[in-house]
Amino acid sequence: MPKLQAIVFDLDDTLYSERDYVLSGFQAVADWAAINLGIEAVTGYATLANLYFEGVRNNTFDRWLTLHNKDRSDIVPTLLDVYRQHTPKIEPFPEIVEILQTLVGSYKIGLVSDGYLGVQQRKWSALGLNSFFDAVVFSDSLGRENWKPSTAPFKLVLEKLDSLPEFSVYIGDNPRKDFFGARQLGMQTIWFKRALAEYGNLEPPGADYHPHLMVESLVQVLSSIEQLNL
Ligand SMILES: [Mg+2]
Repeated sequence: MPKLQAIVFDLDDTLYSERDYVLSGFQAVADWAAINLGIEAVTGYATLANLYFEGVRNNTFDRWLTLHNKDRSDIVPTLLDVYRQHTPKIEPFPEIVEILQTLVGSYKIGLVSDGYLGVQQRKWSALGLNSFFDAVVFSDSLGRENWKPSTAPFKLVLEKLDSLPEFSVYIGDNPRKDFFGARQLGMQTIWFKRALAEYGNLEPPGADYHPHLMVESLVQVLSSIEQLNL
């Protein structure tokens, strides 16, 4: 009889590459700007993507408008809306479906994801993974104050999965927020520390933020779950 009952996943950069979402959003913005601002779509997309690959994470649209000689800070909120409300073209990491197929039946499967509710719901629906999951919790539905590292979304997912924290594991990519709340409740935690991941180089800010285990590939998740079952 396995000790572990429930496996709960993070969404961004755990089940799919967050970079793909960003680039998909940039495409939507470039398409919108081609019509509304006269910035040629291919060029507009390329300059947005360059800013991202140069490491720009704030003021991207302001800087982008300046690069295209558009003095239009007033339009940044609209560009953010286009970005956040676009229908994302994203896919799960290639190995994810097989991993979920392996886990389904032996474990209950859950999701806990932070971020603006509508944005996360659109990502979730684009990924097409819902049928594998027994419970899905978007922390934003509990209010901004209950985003990770709050324990609240973890409590809720365990309630929905009817699983005790000590028999459950959370798998995420961001040591600043993914393991603290889960650990507070007594869940096991696994850091999926993928090469080139957005948050892969962050350090846990304190002892309570450390994961129990670390893996570098999703396939290792399966063997680490075996370890947790020992
Ligand atoms: Mg994440």
